[in-house]
Amino acid sequence: MPLYSYSKLNCYLQCPRRYRFAYIDRIKTEIKETIESFTGNIVHETLRKLYKDLMYEKMNTLEELLEYLRNQWRRKWNDKILITSEDYTPDNYLKMAERFVRDYYKRYYPFNQSRTIALEERIIVDLDGTGRYKILGYIDRLAYRDGGIYEIHDYKTNMTLPINKYIEQDIQLPIYAIGVKDRYPDAKDIRLIWHFLAFDREIEIRKDEEEFEELRQYLISLIRRIEHADEFPAKPSVLCDWCEYKQICGEYKHRYKLETRTLDDYLSDKGVQLVDRYAELLEKREKLLEEIDREIEKTKKEIIDFAKREGLDTVYGTKAKAKVIVGKRHVFPSKGDGRREELKEVLKKHGIWEQVSDIDIYKLSRLMRDGALPIEVEMEIRKFQEEEKVERVYLNRLREDEKRSLSPEEE
Ligand code: SF4
Repeated sequence: MPLYSYSKLNCYLQCPRRYRFAYIDRIKTEIKETIESFTGNIVHETLRKLYKDLMYEKMNTLEELLEYLRNQWRRKWNDKILITSEDYTPDNYLKMAERFVRDYYKRYYPFNQSRTIALEERIIVDLDGTGRYKILGYIDRLAYRDGGIYEIHDYKTNMTLPINKYIEQDIQLPIYAIGVKDRYPDAKDIRLIWHFLAFDREIEIRKDEEEFEELRQYLISLIRRIEHADEFPAKPSVLCDWCEYKQICGEYKHRYKLETRTLDDYLSDKGVQLVDRYAELLEKREKLLEEIDREIEKTKKEIIDFAKREGLDTVYGTKAKAKVIVGKRHVFPSKGDGRREELKEVLKKHGIWEQVSDIDIYKLSRLMRDGALPIEVEMEIRKFQEEEKVERVYLNRLREDEKRSLSPEEE
């Protein structure tokens, strides 16, 4: 049975295409270690040492710990590490790492808030107890407090402090908590603790039985969805900038190819020419439609004036006749109007709702596409879907950073 991990599941949620590249096609790419991940690893190692030594009754001083951090940094540093920002040097990152550890040390010294049970602990979460849906994870620090309280600690070294809503929705630590609950049946309470080291902030979340059960079911449903998926659509987002498959992804492949072209080759590229022609035609159609709409409005107004003047209800032409209605009509509250809900309730009360409501097939397709329905529901509904050939082209304006200079001097 396949083994999942939080990052594997998260990869699917963020972009099914990336998931396919990584876990189905297993395309290997050269992943360069960034200075951010290097810094994060060194900080994790340092905090691991702190707690491991404490388990053996050895208390490091802050200076000893910082010395360890600097040594690890020097020992593991290599020139292949990617520094993405031109504004900062490796020394800035080293100082930052020292600050993370210093703040942490001062905040928790003498580290007796709880008893460490395990460090970087491998945990396998068996979601339904049959071994069919298994998730593997590593807990930075697992600790115990009197009274059957278990703590799952996770160190974050990123430079953004997420809002609480994001933490509430995060599933990584709750997944581990399910594993801890299964492994330690004496657990009365499990605390999920994130340490945002860059901000010297600790955020703790607790979940109840019901929430854990909901998460179990959601994860099973998600795994089933992945295993039943026959399409892995690209889901472009800000995360694409960190995607190792960007150069081979259909969303960006053409752009990468064009970037290497001379200006002449770029302008004579078949794709560039076709998209430009398409954009030109759409623009032309837009203008023509506007012009025709204006003409229609003007003629309509003239027909109404003519009918009023002549006292006519219908005006006759050679190929058509125009019925003219001048007066008032009654309209129901439109979408977004609060009274619409009231109307809905009245219709339901009188049993008319079924007669006037209809399935919104576009909304339903969207829910299916976004995987927003439970897999059982989705599979039942899928039976009603028929395959239809889709060939559409959506045109979007290029952002400034996507545009290529057309001036030959800048070549
Ligand atoms: S570049 Fe973006 S859209 Fe393409 S696979 Fe990666 S994350 Fe998905």
